[in-house]
Amino acid sequence: MYEGALQSLVDQLGHLPGVGPKSAQRMALYLLEAEPDEVSMLVEAINAVRTRVHHCEICANLTEENTCAICRDIRRDPTMICVVQEPKDIQAIEAARVFRGRYHVLGGAIDPMRGIGPEQLRIRELLTRLQDGQVTEIILATNPNIEGEATASYLARTLATIGVTTSRLAMGLPVGGDLEYADAVTLGRALEGRRHID
Ligand code: ZN
Repeated sequence: MYEGALQSLVDQLGHLPGVGPKSAQRMALYLLEAEPDEVSMLVEAINAVRTRVHHCEICANLTEENTCAICRDIRRDPTMICVVQEPKDIQAIEAARVFRGRYHVLGGAIDPMRGIGPEQLRIRELLTRLQDGQVTEIILATNPNIEGEATASYLARTLATIGVTTSRLAMGLPVGGDLEYADAVTLGRALEGRRHID
């Protein structure tokens, strides 16, 4: 244990995701010895994201404007919406460079154990976006786990009533992975999505 301010910094850094006690200590000691400019830039960067970054009015992606760069981009296909749980999922899909439509961030997944039902997600906002009839296809890209699957099923049932084509990301088994190590959900999906081999 250090004293006062230094220990306080170690504790604060230790709260960050993926940072264990040893890393927190290393970062705190680094900051203690770092150039003042470098420390100021870090402090400014933290303050800037806190004050400037918020959710896009349309899709809830992260942006500094009222709407995000993807929603503003007129070259994006307005007939397709890819539904994801979190803004970071948009980053992952964009990195694949295959999807040219727009997104909708739910802000989580249905998780009864944590008291998260459909009302807690941005499903109403999604349905509102579909009202003008421009969107013809919805891709459900929620996570391939129990909560993500429950959310996709709920959305598929809800969207079926309004006649929008719905598809689910085809999740394969991890390449090189052993079948016995795949979780049940992944295996279930792999079975459902099985293709006939001639
Ligand atoms: Zn947006």
